[in-house]
Amino acid sequence: MQEAKRIIREKKTVQHMMLIYCHHHHDTRGETLCDECSALLSYANARIDKCTFLPDKPTCKNCVVHCYAPQKREAIKEVMRYAGPRMLLRAPILTIRHLLDGRKDDERVSRFQKKKQHRA
Ligand SMILES: [Zn+2]
Repeated sequence: MQEAKRIIREKKTVQHMMLIYCHHHHDTRGETLCDECSALLSYANARIDKCTFLPDKPTCKNCVVHCYAPQKREAIKEVMRYAGPRMLLRAPILTIRHLLDGRKDDERVSRFQKKKQHRA
């Protein structure tokens, strides 16, 4: 249950970042994204749904598995670089909770890697 909430939060965080980026770069407003950005957002959500770490998913920032296609990875990195610092002003509670979500990522990742070694 706890984990599912984190994943919903992660998706919300990504969506917020995309909105900030798109509003400033592509002149969109409100809850609207341009075609390009909404395609990138659905891609990001699909990656979260398919994450190999589920249900114990780390935040994407601290992840060791690079599941994004290179082009998409560059695009999302640019969004995060731009929107990251602005998130704290726009959605302070969500941002802080997302940062807190990332606190135990080291544990999550090493737990996963141990499991994988076990299987190999
Ligand atoms: Zn856009």
